[in-house]
Amino acid sequence: MEVVLATGNLGKVREFQQVLGDLKITIHPQSEYDVPEAEETGLSFVENAIIKARNAAKHTGLPAIADDSGIEVDFLKGQPGIYSSRYAGENASNKDNNVKLLDALQGAEAGDRIARFQCIIVYLKHEADPTPQIFQGTWEGSIAESASGTEGFGYDPLFIVPKYNCTAAELPSETKIQISHRGQALLKLINTFTAE
Ligand code: IMP
Repeated sequence: MEVVLATGNLGKVREFQQVLGDLKITIHPQSEYDVPEAEETGLSFVENAIIKARNAAKHTGLPAIADDSGIEVDFLKGQPGIYSSRYAGENASNKDNNVKLLDALQGAEAGDRIARFQCIIVYLKHEADPTPQIFQGTWEGSIAESASGTEGFGYDPLFIVPKYNCTAAELPSETKIQISHRGQALLKLINTFTAE
């Protein structure tokens, strides 16, 4: 089975390949087909994931998988949420976003730094598929006072994983994918695919 993965985020591509590589699914990052980036105009992770999957299916003719994800911080009333990748501006780097988040949390005590990653994965059989399949994962944690660790991507250096008492960027990639928001959503997708 051939599927296009509707993301240009290399961190996500690595994590998808880590999990789906074992199945009989060939994952093609959309960069292989020069798919133009879709404009994420939705107001929810679900809407944006569908927009991205539909865009990739349209430009490739392949079934498409998309992931829309982000981090919600209680002290910031759920922000940056769906705006996580562009929190510090349209072309913000991971570092820019992390610096902005630390600044926004200045003065917040440990109890106020509760946060969670959300991940929605959408599978579309084709561009006009009227019944997208939707899989969700949530990963609870909190925001550190400073960045540590070099694994992963995005907000991983700031995200404290309570069970391991370290940041997500200090976890080996195999551990992160077993417990993360994306790992949980991917497991649901795999269970559905293998049951079909
Ligand atoms: P999207 O590509 O629009 O879905 O944006 C996702 C953004 O959420 C990423 O650019 C990261 O900033 C953040 N994010 C999502 N998942 C993770 C993760 O597993 N680790 C760290 N940051 C993540």
